[in-house]
Amino acid sequence: MNEFKIINNYFKTLTNNSVGARKLEDDTATVKIPPNCELVVSKDMMIENVHFLKKDGGYKIATKLLASNLSDIAASGATPLYYMLGFSKNKHTNQNFIKNFTLGLKDVQKKYGIYLIGGDTVKSDKALVFSVTIFGYVKKNKILLRDKAAIDDLILVTGNIGDAYLGLKLLTAKNTKEFKCDKDDKNYLLKRHHFPDPKIDFAKSLIKNNLSSSAIDISDGLIADLNHICQASKLKAAIYQDKIPLSKAAKKFLSNNRQINFTDLISGGDDYELIFTAKAKNLAKIMTLAKKLKISVNCIGNCQKSDKTKPGNLMVELYDEKGKPIQISKYGYQH
Ligand code: ADP
Ligand code: MG
Repeated sequence: MNEFKIINNYFKTLTNNSVGARKLEDDTATVKIPPNCELVVSKDMMIENVHFLKKDGGYKIATKLLASNLSDIAASGATPLYYMLGFSKNKHTNQNFIKNFTLGLKDVQKKYGIYLIGGDTVKSDKALVFSVTIFGYVKKNKILLRDKAAIDDLILVTGNIGDAYLGLKLLTAKNTKEFKCDKDDKNYLLKRHHFPDPKIDFAKSLIKNNLSSSAIDISDGLIADLNHICQASKLKAAIYQDKIPLSKAAKKFLSNNRQINFTDLISGGDDYELIFTAKAKNLAKIMTLAKKLKISVNCIGNCQKSDKTKPGNLMVELYDEKGKPIQISKYGYQH
């Protein structure tokens, strides 16, 4: 299928007939945001065999692509509006793939109230690359930033950590016997890998209620991403192993498969949960908010003074339940 057929037959259905998208037929799109707000923009790229596997199929590749971009919007506390799509095809790209890819985008955009306004389509000789540039808005000066954590702030995370990493382990297992994991758990862990659940509404409410000013989403791993907050805010984080939330399925997986350990989960990445910091006096309000939005939030540690912030230094200290430091050797995915 040529570029124009793909755009016209499939991608056009994703514009929701919005005027700014101009039917994907003009040189540019036009965008608007509400008054007294700043435009928030983020881009993510996904490459075959690094971020997705061809066998994932168009639907799952697309849902992960768009949802992981939405996760950056969540980390800023912004409201997503629309996105642009970078699409590549190669000789293996058939109509079925494009159809399912479009369906995946459609389902995610429906859930978050966003639409497509443009993009680019190219032909590749080898690996496929997809990208999304997403646009949103946030009230002026209200954006959540990595450099706004303060000493004594609590460190909190949404959801559970490590499920997506275990999903990837199951996906890339050499054979069905490599890991011991029952069917329900396997389905759950795979779902967590393919269908991230960006915490947009929760992050927006944090801003609205003045409960936090610093956040990041977990894409490279809990430790690596928390370290970004530490580096930017020039402080260190002390976190506690027994406070880090794991799902029932992940706990079971660890006890049944000794070749994977706890530190793998917190350096695995792809969680697309939020790490954010908050004053202790706001904790009760945060928990009430989480309950209202039916998500779980856990306090995993706090921010402390440090004179060792230097680019490249790991500023995250992990402790066991007895207060003994746990060595962190690998702390996140690096591209
Ligand atoms: P040009 O060659 O001038 O850059 P293109 O042929 O790349 O124009 O794009 C023509 C139109 O199709 C533009 O409006 C562009 O936004 C849209 N478009 C191209 N590829 C995509 C895509 N993958 N998703 C959405 N819109 C696309
Ligand atoms: Mg172009």
